Amino acid sequence: MIRRSLLLALTVTAACSAPPPAKPLTVAELPAINTEAMLADIRKLSSDEFGGRAPGSKGEELTVSYLIDQFKAAGAEPGNPDGTWTQKVPLVGITPSALSPLVVKKGGQSQSFKPNEQVVAFSQRVTDAISLADSEMVFVGYGVQAPEFQWDDFKGLDVKGKTLVVLVNDPPVADAAAPDGLDAKTFGGKAMTYYGRWTYKYEKAAELGAAGIFIVHETVPAGYPFSVVQGFGGQRFDLVTPDKNMGRAAVQGWLSLDAATSLFKASGLDYQKLKAQAATRDFKPVPLGATATMSFTQTMRTVDSQNVIGRITGSDPALKNEYVVYTAHWDHLGVGQPVNGDNIYNGALDNASGVSLVLEIVRAFKKVKPAPKRTLLFLMVSAEEQGLLGSRYYADFPLYPLNKTLANINVDGVNQWGRTKDLTVIGLGASDLDEYARAAAAEQGRELRPDAEPEKGFYYRSDHFNFALKGVPAFDPDSGIDFIGKPAAYGKEKRDEYTSRDYHAPSDVIKADWDLSGAAEDGRLLLAIGYRVANADTYPSWKPGNEFKAARDKMLQK
Ligand SMILES: [Zn+2]
Repeated sequence: MIRRSLLLALTVTAACSAPPPAKPLTVAELPAINTEAMLADIRKLSSDEFGGRAPGSKGEELTVSYLIDQFKAAGAEPGNPDGTWTQKVPLVGITPSALSPLVVKKGGQSQSFKPNEQVVAFSQRVTDAISLADSEMVFVGYGVQAPEFQWDDFKGLDVKGKTLVVLVNDPPVADAAAPDGLDAKTFGGKAMTYYGRWTYKYEKAAELGAAGIFIVHETVPAGYPFSVVQGFGGQRFDLVTPDKNMGRAAVQGWLSLDAATSLFKASGLDYQKLKAQAATRDFKPVPLGATATMSFTQTMRTVDSQNVIGRITGSDPALKNEYVVYTAHWDHLGVGQPVNGDNIYNGALDNASGVSLVLEIVRAFKKVKPAPKRTLLFLMVSAEEQGLLGSRYYADFPLYPLNKTLANINVDGVNQWGRTKDLTVIGLGASDLDEYARAAAAEQGRELRPDAEPEKGFYYRSDHFNFALKGVPAFDPDSGIDFIGKPAAYGKEKRDEYTSRDYHAPSDVIKADWDLSGAAEDGRLLLAIGYRVANADTYPSWKPGNEFKAARDKMLQK
């Protein structure tokens, strides 16, 4: 649609040569991403001075002011409509201490599991003393109630006051047609659904009134080693709810696979056998005939953490009230357990790198001609590592209407190993944003690739998920795996090396062999998606059948 004022202008100039219709810029015509600038940002944010960027720390202050400085230098505007650069995120930080062992009693026998070594326990309740006292233990399979799959692991069992032992991930349901494969129509087959996430299981335990819940950790279905959940044992943050989170189970946690196996054995049960039964609809909860006792104290502090937000106002008088939002979490784990004498979790890749790429996208947007019609938002969220809290807070209390927010593009980590022929899209097939990405990738001579590890549920593991839950189409890119000039196995090898060695470890620092040329290409592609959505005639939508489509349809009817 041509605006009235423009129409008049056109009439006047019609005698001369009318301007050619605006053609969309090709990816190559968009500003390039500067890898030196990215590295400078990463170096600063992941320096020891920033202390691992824990929410509420001195590192947060440094990070927030650094980001504001970069936004200002790039020419962005304050992103909060109140004229500031931040959105306050009220958090409570809870640190457990004096953890007793988990004592499991059966008849006259008792077994004791060491805290942090064999059992990881924490609580979201905002209170200083936590305990489980002789709470009856029951194995509830995957702990899932999913009416759309006619699935109920509880079968009406009252679990009030009980302690649940549950399996990680969602039920791997065999395909009747091909017994070695998984039924793609039930819990996404190999792909993880939200039912597989630990957050879902803890929420379900709370809803049913359980006193405790322990997830049995297994590295493959969890997607990360036990050392990662051991990292949950320190200070944890949560959003503060009006009931001070007292509706949550008192104790939430994890059991190591060895601990669980021995626990089941003491009850005369075979863990592997029960696990196989749990993958069927007929599964019924199995009381362990044992009780759980555990206690610890907690110290609490409330923290106003901050999301940092910059804005580039759209150039079109009407469309500027519609938005495309980029997100990257600025926080990491702070200072924690030393590994090889280093206790600063620098988080260079996770997620100083994503922040640096979004900053480059801001700088690029300021250079694009013609300027985008809709408004671009750049939201650097806090407390992602604590359970996507900063983005959840934004989604619950958005600064701009979500039904006018066309898309979210999230960057959590970038490719640090050079150029690829492909780009991985987590949840490929979810929304029309894939078509934008596919077109931009094709212009770069590249292709999209689905997530190679859909069983790890990555779509639920970063900030775009909170936008998706509300219904906003959300795009979650990841590094490609087909590296130019490298053997086929290279990408997978590097990725596995990072996951086992550096993920959530103090060794996540800038490495001498980093090559951000691939990240720069990915960044330009993400720039193209945002630019084109910001200029598009229609809103991108979820594909039919997508789990988030109903929420979007409802929101757009208003
Ligand atoms: Zn992380």
